[in-house]
Amino acid sequence: MKSTRPRYSIVAPIYNEEGNIELLYQRIHKVMESTGESWELIMVNDGSRDRSPELIDALADRDPHVKTIHFARNFGHQTAVTAGIDHASGEAVILIDADLQDPPELILEMIERWKAGYQVVYAIRSERKGESWFKLMTAKLFYRVIYRITDVDIPVDTGDFRLMDERVVAILRQMREHNRFIRGMTSWIGFKQTGVYYVRDVRHSGETKYPLRKMIRFALDAITSFSYFPLQIMVYVAAVLGVLALLAIPVVALLRLAFGTEFFGGQATTIILLLLMSSFQLFFLFILGQYVARIYDETRDRPLYVIAHRRGLSDAPPALSRTNLPQSSDLSPAPESTPVERQTP
Ligand code: UDP
Ligand code: MG
Repeated sequence: MKSTRPRYSIVAPIYNEEGNIELLYQRIHKVMESTGESWELIMVNDGSRDRSPELIDALADRDPHVKTIHFARNFGHQTAVTAGIDHASGEAVILIDADLQDPPELILEMIERWKAGYQVVYAIRSERKGESWFKLMTAKLFYRVIYRITDVDIPVDTGDFRLMDERVVAILRQMREHNRFIRGMTSWIGFKQTGVYYVRDVRHSGETKYPLRKMIRFALDAITSFSYFPLQIMVYVAAVLGVLALLAIPVVALLRLAFGTEFFGGQATTIILLLLMSSFQLFFLFILGQYVARIYDETRDRPLYVIAHRRGLSDAPPALSRTNLPQSSDLSPAPESTPVERQTP
């Protein structure tokens, strides 16, 4: 069952999105058919616990444009997107969230830019509707901090909703790092990049799959993979404290000469300073730990994800660089009962 190569691959990560799948498919179908060119939609089920897996497989049975990948468990948004990219065979690959916060209609504008010669077209959120002030604030802060302290130019207010040319995708596939911040990785690759503006809609159905814990982890991944700044600020703190200590010696000596030995006596001062310093040091140890833990992740070099089964993907994806690559064995549509297929080297 050899299929010809589609012009566009659309990749949608799916984690408990049962209320969104049908509409997502309908809107993408309408938009992509209007291009008059060939396309595929790769839906990556990231260990959903609701009816999403059945729904996307039913779509794949109904429409050969739709292909599905099912993870053995939840591996996270960025990893799900990665699996989709690994399997995409289009000349341009488009990443889109499954909750319809990213309007599929914008893809047409992205395609236009791509045809005008850009290799990456990312979508910039000019406005975000219906999100809590906390999410808006933290998101705004996050994008600005990232922009400031990273060494690559990652555009602000830009998510993963984007179109990438096959040349960019080929490089991205070789980047097998475990702590993944895909929008930063595409910026790092370079080529000609541009943005299109859109208003980010409210989530169509269900709740955000990014609780605070995941948001923090994501922010730390982003910062540690693209910046050494947190490691470097330690030296400034050390310099300031060192200078303070040096200045304090003559100041305290003079004060004591003038006003007697009561100055800076007692345990309270010592205890407070001790607590303050311990807090500083533990904080920097934490930062160091963030980098060390990620080094550990990279050196173990486990597969990025484990696939339980796939549907509709019969072509082997292009060969990748490290161990965690999709297998080239036949992956023709599998009934529910087929043995689990593991991603082992
Ligand atoms: N997602 C995923 N795995 C996860 C969390 C999220 O595949 O562990 C998917 C989710 O189904 C959605 C996209 O990633 O398609 C973005 O998630 P969400 O909309 O919850 O994030 P938010 O828009 O709130 O930042
Ligand atoms: Mg969302």
